[in-house]
Amino acid sequence: MKSEQADTPGVVIVGAGHSGGRAAERLRAFGYDKPITVIGQESHRPYERPPLSKAVLTAKAPVEPPFLLTDDKWTALQVKFLPNTSCLSIDRATTTVTLSTGVRLAYEKLVLATGLAPGSIPQLSLNDRGICCVNAFDDAALLRSHLHEANNVVIVGAGFIGLEVAASARQLGAAVTIIEIADRPLQRMLPMHLSNWIADWHRDRGVDIRCGRRIASHKPDEECHLVTLDDDSELKADLIVIGIGGKPRVDLAARAGLCVNNGVTVDAQCRSSDRNIYAIGDIAHHHPGHGRYSRRLESWKNAEDSAAIAAKDICGEPARYDQIPWFWTDQFGNNLQMTGEIPDHADIYERGRIGESGYLAFYTQEEQLIGAFGIDCGGDIRKARGHIEKSRPVTRAILDKAGLSLKISPNVSAAEELSA
Ligand SMILES: Cc1cc2nc3c(=O)[nH]c(=O)nc-3n(C[C@H](O)[C@H](O)[C@H](O)COP(=O)(O)OP(=O)(O)OC[C@H]3O[C@@H](n4cnc5c(N)ncnc54)[C@H](O)[C@@H]3O)c2cc1C
Repeated sequence: MKSEQADTPGVVIVGAGHSGGRAAERLRAFGYDKPITVIGQESHRPYERPPLSKAVLTAKAPVEPPFLLTDDKWTALQVKFLPNTSCLSIDRATTTVTLSTGVRLAYEKLVLATGLAPGSIPQLSLNDRGICCVNAFDDAALLRSHLHEANNVVIVGAGFIGLEVAASARQLGAAVTIIEIADRPLQRMLPMHLSNWIADWHRDRGVDIRCGRRIASHKPDEECHLVTLDDDSELKADLIVIGIGGKPRVDLAARAGLCVNNGVTVDAQCRSSDRNIYAIGDIAHHHPGHGRYSRRLESWKNAEDSAAIAAKDICGEPARYDQIPWFWTDQFGNNLQMTGEIPDHADIYERGRIGESGYLAFYTQEEQLIGAFGIDCGGDIRKARGHIEKSRPVTRAILDKAGLSLKISPNVSAAEELSA
């Protein structure tokens, strides 16, 4: 075992993805001048994942990874970047990590940014030709090469990634079927009316969505895969995409004895149960009592915010994670955005017609704005986020300014008061 010890061990970041790369960048921006080491399983320096299911797939020619920073900016950070290297274990007693290269590395502060472990389907092997996923850039590049040739695409999973791949595949002219085990797309993330609308929206654009179904069996073939569903229906596909999302990679943290519960449990400074170890991005589970939302978020914005909060705290600056969730997705040339929480039982104020560009919905409870959804109206969603952040009551003036009027109210008296 080789041991590497700089004058001061500095910060070691495990995971060279979005939040890991952003944490390195933010540390330097906040003035951190000690060594930073970034350990990454992949061969690429940090890049952003959202384009993988969209622009990377539809690009006419192969593209570069959508890097988080330009080459010059990445070099200017003066981080020690170890690509193609996995962190295997953490020894909290000696504050060291052991790498797949056999090196043992000391840390003063450790930042875990290991993202999601892709989900798998027992009947489908990624080693078979024509079965792809879209978790990392190399997966997306391979999928792109197949997608441009494919006629019949089967996508497993109607979460955002599966839906985005479906929209990309339709844009390229393929027939698309989505298999979804739940009763409706995006069941965990959206209320019934919105996820039903998304299903119809895709169906109107030629996507065959089969909800409440799972794959019973699969026969691999060079030319054509035969997929049988649990209702005995059969589908032929020249390309199958596994788009079922993943689970937070918490094995390192769990083996090191950190508190883990659907992610690494962190406080408002993104610190784990060990003050020297932070967890950011998709794996960070914000503990109840730290910030207004207690949950784990899988989003671009959360990767940005949690990386900045951890970097600030390491630099000794006051920092508190209290961000309003915000997510966007691009499908069929439209940009859908949502912020806050969108529960099933809320008063809904709407502008325009759902499905049309410019549609906006505010979700309120007890005269407080709790969430918003919009199509091609990022500016309105940004304003909504500001109202939620400041816990401003929703007044008639705010609704009028955004052109919103009451659509549905399970709570008629509150709504009547507002519309008076
Ligand atoms: C296809 C796709 C499309 C998306 N689209 C959107 C979108 O439209 N809008 C949105 O808001 N969000 C979107 N997201 C989500 C967003 O990209 C993620 O939330 C974000 O990338 C999370 O950042 P992260 O740093 O936690 O994880 P990642 O960016 O996934 O990085 C984790 C990195 O850690 C590495 N790693 C893991 N274990 C180890 C180890 N032991 N040692 C060394 N390295 C390790 C992995 O190889 C990986 O490179 C999308 C995600 C995907 C996959």
